[in-house]
Amino acid sequence: MTTIIDGNSVAEEIQAGVEDCVETLSAADETPGLATVLMSDDGASATYVSMKQRTCEELGINSFHHEIDPEAPAEELFSKIDELNDDPDVHGILVQMPVPDHVDKRTVLNRIDPMKDVDGFHPENVGRLVAGNARYKPCTPHGVQKILDAYDIETEGADAVVVGRSDIVGKPMANLLIQRDDGGNATTTVCHSRTKDLAAKTRNADLVVVAAGVPEMVDGDMIGEGATVIDVGINRVDADTEKGYELIGDVDFESAKQKAGAITPVPGGVGPLTIAMLMYNTAKAASLQSGVEIDLP
Ligand code: NDP
Repeated sequence: MTTIIDGNSVAEEIQAGVEDCVETLSAADETPGLATVLMSDDGASATYVSMKQRTCEELGINSFHHEIDPEAPAEELFSKIDELNDDPDVHGILVQMPVPDHVDKRTVLNRIDPMKDVDGFHPENVGRLVAGNARYKPCTPHGVQKILDAYDIETEGADAVVVGRSDIVGKPMANLLIQRDDGGNATTTVCHSRTKDLAAKTRNADLVVVAAGVPEMVDGDMIGEGATVIDVGINRVDADTEKGYELIGDVDFESAKQKAGAITPVPGGVGPLTIAMLMYNTAKAASLQSGVEIDLP
């Protein structure tokens, strides 16, 4: 029997734990605050931001939203970040990516105070993660670790393959899997678009994490019997639905399910964890900045 992983229930449990932390912080007059900044006309980006705001509200986290005209000069975004860095009510800052082409992404990431960098993308936080001393683990790969933990899927000694080497998913995922730590100790191979014979690599893996952004590129033939398959992909494809599209993953769920021991669906797999871990990092940020101790889930 293949286990279909329920990301919503794992996320709900983490959010319940974060909610307790928020109560502790609020009782000490340190209600966590998350600022979101959107500089885009993209509908999907706006949806992601509003989902994050809604979850903040549900958990008692203050949310502050700022929109910047995508045509505005980059300096407008930079000065908004400076303002938020200086605002004591804001513990976490999230600039929704992608930003317009005329805005240098690296400058954005460098500009955010590393203590408020709840995405974990500032070079200081990336360095700490690689060095095994993470402050804020990037939300999506951290969420994958939480899923594996919730389902008692052992990473220690496992052969793991990560498909994708982006700064936001693939690289930090691989870095977490190789750490000498809980949720790590895996022998990890990172694959990308130049990898030779991807199928040979994924087929031999105990754990396959796919974050390629290519709809259904990994199918059952590429999965070894009993492997754990984590599908990070979220692809909008045209469909005859009310919205005119549907969301599908980077894994061909139906065929992969025939081989996998456990598999995440899309939607309802990794996605909910990304938001839960953002809330986690925001509570952690408020704790680190205020000195109020909390017991994170
Ligand atoms: P990127 O486009 O930044 O990176 C994709 C990576 O996949 C690249 O490293 C690329 O290789 C590699 N790749 C692309 N095609 C192939 C291929 N045919 N074979 C092997 N490797 C390939 O994507 P992201 O990491 O930002 O996102 C990946 C997916 O995850 C997307 O669908 C995105 O929507 C989703 N996502 C989901 C989140 C969630 O909350 N569940 C959060 C973030 C992302 P190369 O480097 O050589 O180009």
